[in-house]
Amino acid sequence: ASFQNMNLSRPILRGLANVGFTTPTLIQQKAIPVALLGKDVVGGAQTGSGKTAAFMVPILERLLYRPKKVPTTRVLILCPTRELAMQAHSVAVKLAAYTDIKFALAVGGLSLKVQEAELKKRPDVVFATPGRFIDHMRNSQGFGVETIEIVVMDEADRMLEDGFADELNEIINTIPKSRQTMLFSATMTDSVDKLVRLSLNRPVRLMV
Ligand code: AMP
Repeated sequence: ASFQNMNLSRPILRGLANVGFTTPTLIQQKAIPVALLGKDVVGGAQTGSGKTAAFMVPILERLLYRPKKVPTTRVLILCPTRELAMQAHSVAVKLAAYTDIKFALAVGGLSLKVQEAELKKRPDVVFATPGRFIDHMRNSQGFGVETIEIVVMDEADRMLEDGFADELNEIINTIPKSRQTMLFSATMTDSVDKLVRLSLNRPVRLMV
């Protein structure tokens, strides 16, 4: 398998070369073609499996292929911790180095005011922790949740273990149902299953 055979655009192939990825990992081989079709995905994948690129590559393709005339926040990536959000954000920025896609972080420990100003610029993709994202949803009027087209819940089992079930449900319920939703989890517990049933639409299940 190769990224060259996945029908990816030039800027994304250059981005993959930029991060030094030549051969897709198993989760990337399985998830990228399915997600490119716009389908919901449940990925049973551990940390270290390459799941960040598995969801970022199809997301970047969609952003490139269906551009907006005005800045619009179109993608929300929810991660359990600030560190994981920052890690995924940094991989995404490198993958998108040959595009003009804009990213922002909405995580705890950074100034709410500064983040609010960043979010007001309507970055295409926001990497967030559930608690901080809820703060933004509640505090800043006119935060553009209604324009979100793709939601990723990364390490969903960890977010649930950390007690974020209510936050996840509240966030998901405010985002248009027409969205594409991807959920990744190392373990498939009952609470993960419940979250899948509540927030995904006929997902393709990929276990690696
Ligand atoms: P992740 O599971 O997304 O956190 O990725 C785990 C590690 O694997 C990170 O250090 C990535 O840089 C690396 N990685 C992900 N995909 C690939 C790939 N296709 N080829 C080589 N390394 C990769």
